[in-house]
Amino acid sequence: MTHRYKDRVLITITTMCPVYCRHCMRKRKVGKPEKALNEKEFKRIYDYIKKHKEIREILISGGDPLVLSTEKLFSYISLLKKIEHIEVIRIGTRTPVVLPQRFYDESLLRYLEKYSPIWIITHFNHPEEITPEVKKATQLIQKTGSPILNQTVLLKGINDNASILKELFRKLVSLGIKPYYLFHCDPIYGTAHFRTSLKKGIYLYNLLKRDISGLALPFYALDLPHGKGKVIISENNILQLEDNRALLRTPWGEVVEYFT
Ligand SMILES: *Cc1c(COP(=O)(O)O)cnc(C)c1O
Repeated sequence: MTHRYKDRVLITITTMCPVYCRHCMRKRKVGKPEKALNEKEFKRIYDYIKKHKEIREILISGGDPLVLSTEKLFSYISLLKKIEHIEVIRIGTRTPVVLPQRFYDESLLRYLEKYSPIWIITHFNHPEEITPEVKKATQLIQKTGSPILNQTVLLKGINDNASILKELFRKLVSLGIKPYYLFHCDPIYGTAHFRTSLKKGIYLYNLLKRDISGLALPFYALDLPHGKGKVIISENNILQLEDNRALLRTPWGEVVEYFT
């Protein structure tokens, strides 16, 4: 569990995924079944959340929480939902994109409805990922009362192109999915070839700002190394910008050097 922002915590409930993304920001930690959360650890997390009344929101992530059995996942969610000060549950999952058939399961849909609204944050990077199966899964999820939001990672040679991003975000909105974050690609081992410069990212983002509806426009953000938090890329937070280096201001006012 990570408690970085006062009112919300992140629980990595499993380390397993239906697909392992090359650009995964938790690549060091995923795909390790021996590191699965056990009942004792869950109990400690539960007690911590119960004690910290400033926590309103729980973000269940991983790995991908939807690789767990429906019963297992909702045994956790039902306990967390019972904590009085917990107002919001969100699940970070790429399953709607890479394993949409997971949502053809009646029992999963019934649970989503029972605990509605469970916010679903998914991960589309390219309009070609929007298949007929994905559309079907999206509708099934939305019928349960779950809002769906999306996080995209800016990837060189994949989607670092204004027309691809516009098409992606517009298509998502047409499906009722809100583009939430466009993340600058983290400096992860083995993914240098996927990283665009911050200058290029800002150039693309300005074109999007000009051309697409506010509904279709995500926040452009990056997650600073060493747990220093997410920074929304905006004029306020960029103190200096060079070709491969920037000075950024964190949400807590610290100035951090970042290499793009
Ligand atoms: C990203 C993140 C969150 C959620 O942040 P939002 O801006 O609310 O989406 C919460 N906790 C941690 C540790 C995070 O990295």
